This record gives sequence, C-alpha cells and structure tokens, in this order.
Amino acid sequence: MAGGEKVDYVFKVVLIGDSAVGKSQILARFARNEFSLDSKATIGVEFQTRTLLIDHKYRAVTSAYYRGALGALLVYDITKRQSFDHIPRWLEELRGHADKNIVIMLVGNKSDLEDERAVSTEDAKEFAEKENLFFLETSAMQATNVENSFQTVLSEIFKIHSKKNI
Ligand code: GDP
Repeated sequence: MAGGEKVDYVFKVVLIGDSAVGKSQILARFARNEFSLDSKATIGVEFQTRTLLIDHKYRAVTSAYYRGALGALLVYDITKRQSFDHIPRWLEELRGHADKNIVIMLVGNKSDLEDERAVSTEDAKEFAEKENLFFLETSAMQATNVENSFQTVLSEIFKIHSKKNI
C-alpha cells in the first residue's frame, strides 16, 4: 500500500456497488493514495473494490472482503436507476459484515452525464439522511468530488478511531 511511503496510519476502505458504476475509475482518479489531515497525521489507504451484485451464495467470500474495513464508498451511477435501487441491498450486506463503526459514503457517480440523469439528487440525499450516510455526487471523468469523498470518509474514520487511541 501507499507505495512503501511512510505513513502514520493505514485504513482499509472498500468500494462497492453494481458493475460499471465507475468504482475502478474513481480509484484511478484517486491515484495519490495518501492524505494529510490538519498536518497531524498522514494516512495511507488500502483499497479493495467489489464489482458484482451480491448474491447470498457469496457470503463466505464477502466476510473476508469486508474484514478490517473502516470505510466504504457505496457507489451507484446517477444514469442507472437500477444501480441506485440496489443500494439498500449493498448497505444491508455491508452492515451485516463490516465493523459496526464503519464510515459509509453514498456516492452518485457520473454527475457529468446530467442529460441522462435517472436518480435525483433529492432522492439520494433523503435516503442518505435516513440511513445516516454521507452523500456526494461525483464524476470520476471530470475529477469532481472524488478527493472530497475520500477526504470526508478518512477524516471521519480518523476522528472516530483517534478517540480510541489506535
Ligand atoms: P466498475 O465496474 O464499477 O469498476 O466501473 P468502471 O470504473 O469500470 O466504469 C464503467 C464505465 O463507466 C467505464 O466505461 C468508465 O469509463 C465509465 N465511467 C466511470 N466513471 C465515469 C464518470 O464519472 N463519468 C462518465 N461519463 N463515465 C464514467
């Protein structure tokens, strides 16, 4: 991780959501792989992505996948209604397997494709508020809000876990 550079903490963050919503591109955009938080600590991030819609028969695989993850980006495509409609299943999956304090950001990717929008910002925001998730719309293509998504999740993880003196 973090190219062997010296960091103070390493947090595992997973990216999940339906296939083709843009998880790989979000990761590619977020290439720098390291943050400084208030110049107090440098944080490295270990990433894993999961592309396929979960089915119950994959449960054994899933537990290992989520183990140790302190943050998650739950990604849908704003032009694909189905990818948003599957979010509750992904969330249930995540909450069933991950650390109970996991920090979750709902990410509506492909915000550059406004003309093809199939999920309103209001619907997503409402869902995020109901489920206590952070929420941002991103464009991996235009580099909009990608850094912001990771920064928000990492800052929150840091806040939670620095209280526990990790
Ligand atoms: P994954 O299966 O979730 O990892 O999805 P990918 O990252 O492979 O992206 C799927 C497709 O969506 C690719 O053709 C990407 O180029 C495209 N894509 C990803 N992010 C964006 C974005 O922000 N805007 C647009 N217009 N296309 C995107």
